[in-house]
Amino acid sequence: MKAIQIAHTGGPESLHFTDVDRPVPAPNQVLVEVRAIGVNFIDIYYREGVYPATLPITLGQEAAGVIVEVGKNVEHFRVGERVAWCMYLGAYAEYAVVAESHLVFIPARLTFEQAAASLLQGMTAQYLSSTTFALKAGDTALVHAGAGGVGYLLTQMAVQAGAHVISTVSTEEKAELVRSAGAHDVILYTKEDFEPVVKRITGGRGVDVVYDSVGKETFDRSLKCLRPRGMMVLFGASSGAVPPVDPIQLSQDGSLFLTRPSLAHYTQSREELDARSADIFQRLERGTLQLRIHASYPLAEATNAQMELQSRRTTGKLLLIP
Ligand code: NDP
Repeated sequence: MKAIQIAHTGGPESLHFTDVDRPVPAPNQVLVEVRAIGVNFIDIYYREGVYPATLPITLGQEAAGVIVEVGKNVEHFRVGERVAWCMYLGAYAEYAVVAESHLVFIPARLTFEQAAASLLQGMTAQYLSSTTFALKAGDTALVHAGAGGVGYLLTQMAVQAGAHVISTVSTEEKAELVRSAGAHDVILYTKEDFEPVVKRITGGRGVDVVYDSVGKETFDRSLKCLRPRGMMVLFGASSGAVPPVDPIQLSQDGSLFLTRPSLAHYTQSREELDARSADIFQRLERGTLQLRIHASYPLAEATNAQMELQSRRTTGKLLLIP
């Protein structure tokens, strides 16, 4: 079968479209014929070696497809069922083995593309807005990169929770998009400093929560946007890693809370994975969550897809199709 592997870490050129043996499922795994693959920043972090792995590896942490074989200890999944998964390596391939613990069923009305495009970013927006900081009516949230993959979904879910949402974006086109997602205020943070604007919008009080996936370029000023005892949710590093933080800074900026969450720790149990994925899939089925697919590439062109993700031009999910 064909797969995208890396034998050494580095830039996009380290991706290789290659022939590998079809994997054999372990007792707790299923073998899936992959139909659509989600491209994510985490794939780039693995490629660059930010997350260590024993090489060579088949990249990819999100996909959807049909089960073609089940391991002998698999209890709840059968051959022929349509499934999706994320946070499990090996998705950039024609076939992938996946542990039963990571699988969810795809509802009949959703396509493989919709499932692969929504699971990772959707469940992230879901846990951030419902659990990390459980938004409620009257809260004010600052969402950076609001037209990005997670940002666009998070903005919609925060608005639906009743929060006042201030989104930052880099271009007018993205500003339009995030307004259509319901953002109440939009700041072009490439043109003006977002910190004084947030202060002005909130009448000097500051926001209750900042959802910051941009990292290095925004982190320090994001802290200044919070009200006393507000929560800083740093969940990504699209502009680079945030340097070490001195805890006294949190005190001086208003006894702030700081968390650096990961989807893996918010989908640890079968119940949690089912509840979060079902929430996303139901919103898509009902049409209360708009999903944007920016482009689909053939699996062989994974390099181009990753370069596009890093270009900052995308306004929606990138998929690979085997
Ligand atoms: P996006 O589609 O949102 O892309 C990143 C966005 O960040 C861009 O669209 C861009 O928006 C903004 N950005 C700002 N500076 C840069 C830069 N220097 N280079 C590239 N982009 C930049 O990606 P995702 O929604 O998939 O992921 C967003 C972040 O969230 C990533 O860092 C990812 O690792 C993280 N993440 C974390 C998870 C967790 O559980 N902790 C789970 C999923 C994702 P603009 O042009 O408007 O500035």
